Amino acid sequence: MLPNFDYVRPVSLRDAIKHLSSDGARIHAGGIDLLSCLRDGVLGVEKMVSISKIKALKGIKAKSDGSLHIGALTTIAEVSENSIIKSQYSVLAQAASKVASPQLRNQVTIGGNICQKPWCWYYRGDFHCVRKGGEMCYAENGENQYHCIFGGGGICYIVHPSDPSSALVALGASVRIVGQLGSRVVPLDKFHLSPGQDAQKENVLEPGEIVAEIVIPSPPEGLRSSYRKVRVRQSFDFALAGVALALQFKDKKVTGGRVVLSGAAPVPWRSKAVEEVITGKKLDARTVAKAADAVVKGAEPLGQNGYKIPLFRGIIEEELLAIAGA
Ligand SMILES: Cc1cc2nc3c(=O)[nH]c(=O)nc-3n(C[C@H](O)[C@H](O)[C@H](O)COP(=O)(O)OP(=O)(O)OC[C@H]3O[C@@H](n4cnc5c(N)ncnc54)[C@H](O)[C@@H]3O)c2cc1C
Ligand code: SF4
Repeated sequence: MLPNFDYVRPVSLRDAIKHLSSDGARIHAGGIDLLSCLRDGVLGVEKMVSISKIKALKGIKAKSDGSLHIGALTTIAEVSENSIIKSQYSVLAQAASKVASPQLRNQVTIGGNICQKPWCWYYRGDFHCVRKGGEMCYAENGENQYHCIFGGGGICYIVHPSDPSSALVALGASVRIVGQLGSRVVPLDKFHLSPGQDAQKENVLEPGEIVAEIVIPSPPEGLRSSYRKVRVRQSFDFALAGVALALQFKDKKVTGGRVVLSGAAPVPWRSKAVEEVITGKKLDARTVAKAADAVVKGAEPLGQNGYKIPLFRGIIEEELLAIAGA
């Protein structure tokens, strides 16, 4: 059951920030994740601040310096269908097109997507685990088939649930955050927090701060990008394993770029081991086989998620060969 709360729908960012300064205030964008967390008793709320009427948070704009600015209220469907994103940042269009179902993509926002809470069933259930301030991680020796193989650190084994976040980290995107103290820009690979940084917080937002927009830099020369996601149900589901590639090519060789894994770790997981193997190389069978070894280097599977090792090896091989031939 939902708790009782006040509901306000300001039309300016300034008013929203003012409302958010009161104790127990929470941001409501598309509401899909927030209402589910309230119903499950994972979060409480005194005042719900809907940001849905704030025009400054809407729309996708290309700037003269070549960067692309995506307002936090842009729906995931709009992101997946935008012609600039499809042609210049295909990894993001592909990741967005694989989020949830068509109905949900029309409702949920990119800001809410990167800020969603973890979907660990113990966390969403009636378990006072580490992430809720308790002493124990129930997944560590429990039902952990969908949990992480990197970065749990003996603390918390969630996987980061957002597909677009992996794509955005691969593209070197940043978020612009606004709050009572003004505005700040944080690279997306510093926005999400690992359990070792803070086991009860998923990102760097302070109380009262709003993600205003996501900024993607101009695509570098020779950029090719793609997103691959493996899930249990093809209709809609979170990633068992995913890989976001944003690689620069010159004369068939990889000259730079990023490889980011989904379904692997509590944050979008940059695989520097794979980046090192492929940079300066043609993606031939030998290099791709080395990349498959590298992608699982340092992985620490739990009791029930060892299948992720061959899965990540397989998808990195297939995706690298596909992007080389694109
Ligand atoms: C059945 C189902 C399947 C799903 N499958 C996938 C999937 O495959 N891939 C995937 O990536 N996601 C998936 N999701 C998650 C879904 O994409 C998120 O729940 C959704 O994106 C949240 O967006 P929203 O606009 O509804 O956010 P809300 O529910 O409104 O907000 C989510 C959280 O973010 C905060 N917030 C919202 N906007 C801002 C902002 N601008 N600044 C600061 N904080 C903010 C809210 O306070 C809240 O804590 C799935 C969800 C469901 C229910
Ligand atoms: S994985 Fe994290 S969220 Fe899940 S039970 Fe363990 S501490 Fe809680």
